[in-house]
Amino acid sequence: MTASPPFVAIAPPRFDVALDIRYATADNLTGRPIYARPLCLLHPVAAERLAVAVGLAAAIGLRLRLFDGYRPPAAQWALWEALPDPRFIADPRKGSTHARGVAVDLTLETRDGAPLDMGTAFDDMSERAYHADTAVPAEAQRNRFILLGLMAAAGFQHYAYEWWHYQLPDAAAFPLVEDGALGPAVM
Ligand SMILES: [Zn+2]
Repeated sequence: MTASPPFVAIAPPRFDVALDIRYATADNLTGRPIYARPLCLLHPVAAERLAVAVGLAAAIGLRLRLFDGYRPPAAQWALWEALPDPRFIADPRKGSTHARGVAVDLTLETRDGAPLDMGTAFDDMSERAYHADTAVPAEAQRNRFILLGLMAAAGFQHYAYEWWHYQLPDAAAFPLVEDGALGPAVM
């Protein structure tokens, strides 16, 4: 396993994004904080592509709202113990793309900070959260397609079961990173 370069903290002013880091709060499916740092950290390759997505969103009057980026393996275990369903939670024995720093959970909001209707909440672990679910309102389907389009154009791959999850197409090529192995983030 090769050493990872310093991860990038995706935050203003360098990145024009809104932060809503749910796993650092009790507002997530486990009902408690599962990691200490309220940061969205990404591998520099993913950070570079997310910067493209930030620009594409701004060009149509929107902003990215980020729920999660790098997730330590221990946090993945906490999620798995709360919901051991491999559709929605990567088996920690195999390793999550979040633990490689190349996945991001996000939605869109207006420039005034109002989240767009995506049909379900973040981490709604049901079929309503699937991409191309036509049971959610048409407006929510349109909003999901906007997010899908700009993330694809920026070089990310979607995940069929979660409208909020995007990752690099070659995610498995990046090493799993333990929290303690992570140096200071590039701000
Ligand atoms: Zn995710």
